Amino acid sequence: MFKINDNYLKLPGSYLFSTIGKKVNAYAAANPDRKIIRLGIGDVTQPLPAAVVEALHKAVDEMGDAASFRGYAPDLGYEFLRKAIAEKDFAARGCEIDADEIFISDGAKSDSANIQEIFGPDNRIAVCDPVYPVYVDSNVMAGRCGNYDEKTQRWSDVIYMPCTAENDFVPELPQQRPDLIYLCFPNNPTGAAVTKEQLQRWVDYANEQGAVILFDAAYEAYISEKDIPHSIYECEGARTCAIELRSFSKNAGFTGLRLSYTVIPKALEAGGTSLHALWARRHGTKYNGAPYIVQRAGEAVYAPRGQEQIREMVNRYMKNAHYIRDGLKDAGYEASGGINSPYIWMKAPDGMTSWEFFDFLLERANVVGTPGSGFGPSGEGYFRLTAFGTYENTAEAMERIRRI
Ligand code: PLP
Repeated sequence: MFKINDNYLKLPGSYLFSTIGKKVNAYAAANPDRKIIRLGIGDVTQPLPAAVVEALHKAVDEMGDAASFRGYAPDLGYEFLRKAIAEKDFAARGCEIDADEIFISDGAKSDSANIQEIFGPDNRIAVCDPVYPVYVDSNVMAGRCGNYDEKTQRWSDVIYMPCTAENDFVPELPQQRPDLIYLCFPNNPTGAAVTKEQLQRWVDYANEQGAVILFDAAYEAYISEKDIPHSIYECEGARTCAIELRSFSKNAGFTGLRLSYTVIPKALEAGGTSLHALWARRHGTKYNGAPYIVQRAGEAVYAPRGQEQIREMVNRYMKNAHYIRDGLKDAGYEASGGINSPYIWMKAPDGMTSWEFFDFLLERANVVGTPGSGFGPSGEGYFRLTAFGTYENTAEAMERIRRI
C-alpha cells in the first residue's frame, strides 16, 4: 500500500484567506446594496506597463516564426535577462553579483518554498513572527519544524523572532542558534524595513554562526528611504551567507504573468560544497524554465522606458499607502509601514482582537482587510491593509474608516 507524505497532515488548515472569503461572501449576500472595498489581498490591480506589453507582443511574434522560434530556455534563464538584472539590480548599487549567480524562475513563492530542498532535514529554521506563511509551511512539508501546538500556534522546532511595536517590527538576533534564517524586508505583513546597519548585524551574525539567510526582497521596489538596503548584498560578507529572492510581481505587475529570480553567490558553501551548484542541480532536474516571452517582458522592465513606467506604477500604489497611513493616524489609530512598503500595519483599537476588528470594519465600513493574527501569534491585535487597490476605492475606504 502506498504511503502519503504525512507531514502534510501536520499542517494546520490554511484558514486565513478562506475564512475572510467566506465572511465577506456571507456579508455581501445578506447586504447586496452595500459596496464592499477590499484592501486585504496582496495582489496588484494596475495593468502591465506599456513597455512590457510591447515586449510580450514582439516575443510572441518571434515564437511564431521558424527563424526566431525558441524552445526550452537555458537552465539558469536567458542571459539577456540575467545580464540586465546583474547590471541594474546589483552592479548599479555597488553589489558584486555575477549574471551566472542569478537563477530565473516563475515566482518568489515557489522559490521561497523550494529552496529548503537543498538543506538537510535537521536544519533548524528561524522566522519572524508575524510571517509570510510559505517559509514555515514548506519546511513542515519537508519534515522539519517538529510538532504544532494549537494553543500557542507554534512549531516546537522553529525559532520564532517576534516583531512587535517595541522593536519597530524588526526582530532581535535569536537566543537559540538557527541554521536557516528567513528574513523578508520590506516586510509582509508589517510593512517594516531594515536599515543597512541592522541588516549588516544579521549578516555578521549568520557568518559567525555558520547560518544561511534566505532574504526575501519581493517588495524592494517600494523602498523610498535612503538608508534602507535594496539588496542584502549591499552588506559586507553577504556573499558567504545569503541567498536573495526577488520577484517581478509587485514592482512590475507580473502576478498573473509570473517571473522572479533567486541569487546564490558562488562563495556560499557548506563544508566545501557550493549551494549554487546544488540549486543549479535542483533547477536543472525539476524546472524547465520561465517562458521566453515572459523573460523578454522581464528584460523590458530594465530598459529606460520600462524603468520609468514601473516607477510610475509603484508611485501610484505608494500614494494609496501614504493616504491609508496618514488617514489612520489622523483618525487616531496606531499605524506603521506604508513608507517603504505597500502594506500598512495597524493596531486594532480598544483592545479588539484582529478578527473582532475585521468584523467591525466589514460591518460598519464595508472595508475588508487582513487580520494580523493570521500571520502568527505576534500579529494578534493587528490588522493589515494593502495599497494595491485603486486610488478611488482607497480614498473611499479611508473616508468610511474616518467616519466610524
Ligand atoms: N514573498 C513575499 C514576502 C510575498 O508577500 C509574496 C506575495 O505576496 C511572494 C513572495 C510571492 O511572489 P511571487 O508572486 O513572485 O510568487
